[in-house]
Amino acid sequence: MSRYDLIVVGGGPGGSAAAKEAADSGLKVIILERGRFCGEKNSSGFGLSPKAARDFDYIRDLDVPSLWQTKFGVMHIVDPKPSNSDRMTWGLTPPRRCSYPQASEYMIQMMYRPEFDQWMAEKAVAAGAKLKRSTLAINVVREGENISGVVDHKGNEYRAPVIIAADGAHSLIAQKAGLRKKWEKDQVTVLATVDFEADSERIAEYCGDTNVHIFMGPERGGYVCIFRNGFHIGSRPAKTLQSEVDAGRNLSTRSVIDNIQLDFVQRLIKATRAKPREFQLHFLPWLKTFNERIYTGGLMLTGDAAGVPEPFMAEGVWQAMYSSRLAAQVALRAHKDKDFSKIYLKQYMDELKASPVGIDFTAGSVLRDFFSEWTSQTFYDLFDNLADAMFYGMLTMAEPHAEGMLRVPAILVDMIPQLLFLARYYFPITEEASRNKIKGVISSIKAVAPMLQSMSALTPGGKQNG
Ligand SMILES: Cc1cc2nc3c(=O)[nH]c(=O)nc-3n(C[C@H](O)[C@H](O)[C@H](O)COP(=O)(O)OP(=O)(O)OC[C@H]3O[C@@H](n4cnc5c(N)ncnc54)[C@H](O)[C@@H]3O)c2cc1C
Repeated sequence: MSRYDLIVVGGGPGGSAAAKEAADSGLKVIILERGRFCGEKNSSGFGLSPKAARDFDYIRDLDVPSLWQTKFGVMHIVDPKPSNSDRMTWGLTPPRRCSYPQASEYMIQMMYRPEFDQWMAEKAVAAGAKLKRSTLAINVVREGENISGVVDHKGNEYRAPVIIAADGAHSLIAQKAGLRKKWEKDQVTVLATVDFEADSERIAEYCGDTNVHIFMGPERGGYVCIFRNGFHIGSRPAKTLQSEVDAGRNLSTRSVIDNIQLDFVQRLIKATRAKPREFQLHFLPWLKTFNERIYTGGLMLTGDAAGVPEPFMAEGVWQAMYSSRLAAQVALRAHKDKDFSKIYLKQYMDELKASPVGIDFTAGSVLRDFFSEWTSQTFYDLFDNLADAMFYGMLTMAEPHAEGMLRVPAILVDMIPQLLFLARYYFPITEEASRNKIKGVISSIKAVAPMLQSMSALTPGGKQNG
């Protein structure tokens, strides 16, 4: 039996972020990773949002071969089936109005997961954490009310007063600890991707600065993420496993096959001489509300294991890193206070719920429903009308300009149902956030009120002078 200050189960981005944080502060940490190397299960890539560079200093030094910052992204509004053509294509640079610099420098950082996960694990190891690969944690050890250890597939026992389970969507540790059974069908989404390998010179030549494409259309949608030497094609915006069961067929797989047929994708495949490398079907937690059952005595769940991918697009890597670092900070405090009880570790859940990760769940169910609507006819009609307002109206070259301009108001009237449809989601989503903002303004007014009162008392006409 080996003893540690902290056991981290899972060497994904969450596990490594936790291990680095704890090892940096001097804890004796071990990461147990079932893969032969970190990131082994994901041959494909992902996009890391700029929040990661904002919140983690070391991410600013990220340097892996496939890394490619998205400086230009394209949205394709695709015609209804059976067409494979775009009705409208819309290219974008990162927004200019941003609250921190990285968000205006790039939209996301594209890279392959095996490279990123290994880079993250190296950071944890450099900080002093031990990484044990090819090690599957299969059970927990209990001591009184607390979880105090983990058993691996060979029967080896690892003991620590606190454990962070960052073992992903199917978290065995969460189940063994009795925190939950499997996710309900309504709590997970199914994502299908096909990964292609392609000639890197041809990618550079054909794609230029553009490495992300998003598709939307009635009952269709998805994306292409392009990396230095390949790309992957993903299925339509998330649907829950429940909707797949209700539909009686695998919507995600159908969607990715449809996406491969799109004119743009066919051109990309031909131009870069791409060959399919791997088909993947993943489950991802996609919860409508914040999951509070993420801790017990001696144990905290983080990342996908905790169900923290956000309820809109199910982004999950920054969330995994953020929640895991927070858990490591609570583990450090628990060591200082020598208290690993469930009551003590509740502060992890409370702090996570109040953090930007938790705040995303404020409008969770509305956000999730809204994202599913992106592939509706109404959304398509909105863009269809916008395209007409531009090119049948303002910029028409087919007829006299004044006649085109005259058509615009009628097109805008046609858009009213679609704008009302947007408002139906927009207001509930922003209501809670604005309520919190207003509360903030009121409390800051309250905070300065005594000062304002005393200032008015000192001015001519104030009480003291009167
Ligand atoms: C198709 C797809 C595309 C996605 N795209 C994006 C994206 O572009 N951007 C984004 O931010 N998010 C994306 N996500 C979500 C993101 O991948 C996850 O939210 C993120 O990986 C969660 O990190 P994690 O560390 O919690 O878990 P994981 O990355 O799943 O890591 C868990 C680790 O634990 C190991 N493990 C599991 N069980 C055990 C065990 N019992 N013992 C030992 N080791 C174990 C696994 O091998 C793995 O290395 C995507 C998800 C999918 C499915």
